Amino acid sequence: MSHRPFLPYSRQNILPDDLRAVVRVLKGDWLTTGPTVDEFERKFAKYAGAKHAVAVSSGTAALHAAFFAAGVGPGDEVIVPATTFVATSNAAVYLGATPRFADVDPETALMIPEAAEAAITRKTRAIVPVDFAGHPADLDAFRRIARRHRLVLIDDAAHALGARWRGRRIGSIADFTTFSFHPVKHITTGEGGMITTDDAEAAVRMRMFRHHGIMRDPKRLSVNEGPWYHEMQVLGFNYRITDFQCALGISQLAKVERFIKARREIARRYTEAFRDMDGVLTPLERKGARHVYHIYPIRLALDRLKASRREIFEQLRKEGLGVQVLYIPVPWQPFYRKRFGTRRGQFPGAERFYESEISLPIFPQMRNADVARVIRTVRSVIGRAAR
Ligand SMILES: *Cc1c(COP(=O)(O)O)cnc(C)c1O
Repeated sequence: MSHRPFLPYSRQNILPDDLRAVVRVLKGDWLTTGPTVDEFERKFAKYAGAKHAVAVSSGTAALHAAFFAAGVGPGDEVIVPATTFVATSNAAVYLGATPRFADVDPETALMIPEAAEAAITRKTRAIVPVDFAGHPADLDAFRRIARRHRLVLIDDAAHALGARWRGRRIGSIADFTTFSFHPVKHITTGEGGMITTDDAEAAVRMRMFRHHGIMRDPKRLSVNEGPWYHEMQVLGFNYRITDFQCALGISQLAKVERFIKARREIARRYTEAFRDMDGVLTPLERKGARHVYHIYPIRLALDRLKASRREIFEQLRKEGLGVQVLYIPVPWQPFYRKRFGTRRGQFPGAERFYESEISLPIFPQMRNADVARVIRTVRSVIGRAAR
């Protein structure tokens, strides 16, 4: 028996120059908010094609800050896809707003523009597509809907750093775009997040929000008591990111195109290997989309298989593949059922996707042999289950 290390569904790729960059900052004068935060924000804004970038302590904090800057508050509604990580809708709840879930396409798990538009009411403030798996949502359709109904468009791009939609970079299209630097995402700062926007005033508000709501700019104070004087103008949080995390972020950002190329190459090999297999449906890359494969979600054609998704999932795990199911529909979560009365059966697209989905391991430093092993294992486990 050969040694079979566990292959996670994703993981960080930290290289020697990343370590040197972090140590350099740790030896300097600034640990938390200092010049490296500004530098990371400038470089990130340039990469994403936005005028401003605001760095925060997580992707969740990025969503919270963006929703805050968009004016989301008590009594408002925010439209989010039924298939996403819970953080997307939680950020609306933090602000006293109500998330309104919209169904997703059962093939791509992307929010359906018509479903989102149908969920709009007089109380709707923002619409929040998610670029699921790294595959951009139809941001032109969402832009039109947002304009027609005077809503703020916020793109949850936690999966989609470096993705493009019709030639434009994700981060340059919506009013706000949020990113995560959790270790499973494209680049990491340990924990961390970023918001991009072209709105200078919103960037000021988000920087205030990440630092307790405190304003120090003398031009923006209601009075000036002296050089020490500052004001807490809104209820903010401590959502600061540290200088040494941003040193890691800068060093990682310099490699993002290389990481994406590696992910796309692995995805290409998977798709080629599974395309003609009975019982497996491979992820789509729509025309106009540059998919960056934060995850590689296959769907099982369960009517063509005699094993259940659970049996296949458990066999893949037993073979050492760190497969995942992403995501359980958020409206199914007990918190949402209790607080907002959502129930099973309301979002058939999200439910259909969930019932057949399995995410395979994909991360840039996978070796050829790792990719071949995933292909071999999937072919054998699912091949055995074919009718
Ligand atoms: C990871 C993720 C988040 C939250 O990011 P954190 O950095 O873990 O707080 C938000 N939305 C989606 C879709 C995510 O995948």
